[in-house]
Amino acid sequence: MSIALAWFRRDLRLADNPALAAALAAHDHVVPVYVHAPHEEAPWPAGAASRCWLHRSLVALDRDLRARGSTLHVYAGDSLATLREVAAATGAHAVYWNRLYEPAARARDASVEQALRADGLGVHGFNSALLCEPWAIATASGGPYRVFTPYWRNLRARLEPRPPLPAPHRMPATAPATAPIDALDLLPRRRWDAGFDAAWRPGEAGAEVALQRFLDEALGGYAVARDVPSVAGTSRLSPHLHFGEISPMRIAWEIEHARVDGKEAFLRELGWREFSHHLLFHFPASSERNLDPAFDAYPWARIEPRQLRRWQQGRTGMPIVDAGMRELWATGWMHNRVRMLVASFLTKNLRQHWLHGARWFWDTLVDADLANNTQGWQWTAGTGADAAPYFRIFNPVTQGERFDPDGTYIRRWVPELAAFDARAIHRPWTVPAALRRSGYPAPIIDLGASRAAALAGYESMRRAE
Ligand code: FAD
Repeated sequence: MSIALAWFRRDLRLADNPALAAALAAHDHVVPVYVHAPHEEAPWPAGAASRCWLHRSLVALDRDLRARGSTLHVYAGDSLATLREVAAATGAHAVYWNRLYEPAARARDASVEQALRADGLGVHGFNSALLCEPWAIATASGGPYRVFTPYWRNLRARLEPRPPLPAPHRMPATAPATAPIDALDLLPRRRWDAGFDAAWRPGEAGAEVALQRFLDEALGGYAVARDVPSVAGTSRLSPHLHFGEISPMRIAWEIEHARVDGKEAFLRELGWREFSHHLLFHFPASSERNLDPAFDAYPWARIEPRQLRRWQQGRTGMPIVDAGMRELWATGWMHNRVRMLVASFLTKNLRQHWLHGARWFWDTLVDADLANNTQGWQWTAGTGADAAPYFRIFNPVTQGERFDPDGTYIRRWVPELAAFDARAIHRPWTVPAALRRSGYPAPIIDLGASRAAALAGYESMRRAE
């Protein structure tokens, strides 16, 4: 009898899972394995919000496997040692997995593959996380892209969504169940994650519901509504995509066949996700270091723990910034437009290094993703590939007026300001008596002066080049 291991990592689904499908096609029995090994993800092991999601996602995957007669075999420890042990115990002679692209995961997988092959096991890797492998697209001179538009033109021209692979109907169990998922200790002791359950449904079935909701209700208006944080105008698929509960190919397939406007705008955002992975793959140090080395000479302000805390808590006195930071804390997610605004405020108005923001997002986002987070922060800070010109510093007041004109989003997350009218809600300090009564703080920084200081810092950096 031929037995194989399917090593689940961030591909926590049964449908359109190429590694699982290939293992099932080639072997009589497939043992689904998950190994919790945060030390192998250093220096970016999953943050607190991600672990909350992961717990729920593993529970969902195990439930889906049990419905097919199987179970998820869960372990904690060293990946290679665990795979060796499970292979020996089950008599497996091949291991199947879907590829990851973060530098630490790639290094780990390369050494696991080498060692397993040396043991005489078959090793089979697949792409399930991206529309296109990061190395498959290159500029005319053969190098990586650093600018999004030509990258996307290249990828879009070759993108041919294929129909998704079906989920298996039955997967008979081959080995006794292992440690319960609770033993991984992924959930916080003090359950601050209660708000997540109202906002999310982790797991493959939840991803499917999110996709259908988006196709039915939001795709048609996406090009415009995607910038309005008070409405559910985007897909909210990001945590599902990060944990591989749905494949980008499956999403692209559905989008390609949808008969509505707005398709291209949405595919383009999936393209940004691809571009982020392309960048992280080709510039693996970029999660720690400026992609544009000129910014190594940028005069960041001295670290201000008090200001940083006020930013994290959503008490900067800048209403749309605070609304975003509180949405993040309550739900583990923040609207993309507002992510750009809070990141710009931290890196340009407060002139704090983008890594301070990236680390906070890493711990608090349920969709925290090394490629997307790095790219998002470096782009906004101006230090990255294809970054917005540095001098285009977002003004949180005018951005709030433009994208949250009646203040609905701010009112939802900053209830102290609920009674302010649509104009004053974006600049509550202009009504000092009402501001005092509200308990909402005055701004921690002057927008004009801090903008001028950021530009002066940029000029001094340019002169140093
Ligand atoms: P939709 O608008 O429905 O887009 C569909 C999918 O496309 C998303 O789920 C996501 O996978 C991808 N996508 C959309 N916008 C972007 C983008 N700008 N860059 C890369 N991929 C994109 N996204 C993450 O998934 N994880 C992160 O850790 C992350 N950190 C960010 C940090 C900053 C400072 C900024 C500015 C952006 C960050 N983003 C991150 C990108 C973006 O904000 C989120 O992907 C998006 O808000 C998720 O919501 P959605 O699924 O409704 O997006």
